[in-house]
Amino acid sequence: MNILVTGGAGYIGSHAVKRLSEAGHRVVVLDNLDRGHRAAVPGHVLFEPLDMRQTEAVTDMLAGHEIECVMHFAAVADVSESVQQPLRYYHNNTGGSISLLHAMDAAGVRRLVFSSTCATYGVPPPDSLPITEDMTQSPISPYGWSKLLFERVLRDYAAANSDFAFAALRYFNVAGCASDGSLGEDHDPETHIIPVLLNAAMGKIPKATIFGDDYATPDGTCIRDYVHVEDLVDAHVVVMDALQNGDQRFYNLGIGRGYTVRQVVEAAKKVTGVDFQVEIGPRRPGDPPQLYANADKITRELNWQAKITDIERIVETAWRWFKRHPNGYGD
Ligand code: UDP
Repeated sequence: MNILVTGGAGYIGSHAVKRLSEAGHRVVVLDNLDRGHRAAVPGHVLFEPLDMRQTEAVTDMLAGHEIECVMHFAAVADVSESVQQPLRYYHNNTGGSISLLHAMDAAGVRRLVFSSTCATYGVPPPDSLPITEDMTQSPISPYGWSKLLFERVLRDYAAANSDFAFAALRYFNVAGCASDGSLGEDHDPETHIIPVLLNAAMGKIPKATIFGDDYATPDGTCIRDYVHVEDLVDAHVVVMDALQNGDQRFYNLGIGRGYTVRQVVEAAKKVTGVDFQVEIGPRRPGDPPQLYANADKITRELNWQAKITDIERIVETAWRWFKRHPNGYGD
């Protein structure tokens, strides 16, 4: 199939490009390189340096490459930044996605797999954990809202276009790197917990900070559901293959259990063999205490289940890439 991967130069998108190319699909990458890395896209993959908001150029590109399905990863995805710069999130994530959908409409592209997020759920009441897809969505950050608004747009667009089909995949905490060490996670600034810990282990930062240890969790630190990036992109392929005209699918993508930040710290120390310094800092605005998935729906309907569920194994894959690429993609 001819597949457009938006954000294909980014962390998750680049892993999707690898997976889809290996499966024999013809992949085109759209990325404005605001946060992506050109070096993350292999030379044989067509690269279109466009911004999703260039509706006409994107329309022409979709038609020119005879794209049949779009996997839409392109987004800014930093919860605390979104609290500081909400417009950037709405403009890029919501506005950009609407522009992309306009272009798809004009070019006759009828399939979309959209990267949504568990941040659309907001703060789940303790008795509603693990989170199922039918839980009320009530985001507490502009990032969560920027994604939820586009879910709404997709529902309305699909209701009016019976030959269209989409899936919104609500990611929990995507983590780890390609098992062969070829692709990884390189953000600037780095804010995600596993790369931050590995940067501390490598001495690139003097210490890591745990954002709050006074939450109502067993060790006082936040609980998250860490799903390996390769499992996650596998789910995209399974979902894409299942889409039929008129489908509106919503799935949680997680491993179905949570780890505390302290458990992740311990895993990182064990995997790296470095007893790096860790301090306790204040809570980070926009952080719900606990988020972990009930991912039974996608298992039941499409037989997908995360294969890598042990936090040490997840950290190991990231460490492999960090050791080989101490300067990330170097751009
Ligand atoms: N976290 C932390 N220190 C850091 C980065 C993150 O304690 O330097 C915590 C954060 O508060 C959250 C968890 O680690 O509870 C995962 O955060 P991350 O930014 O990786 O992902 P998010 O949950 O925001 O999508």
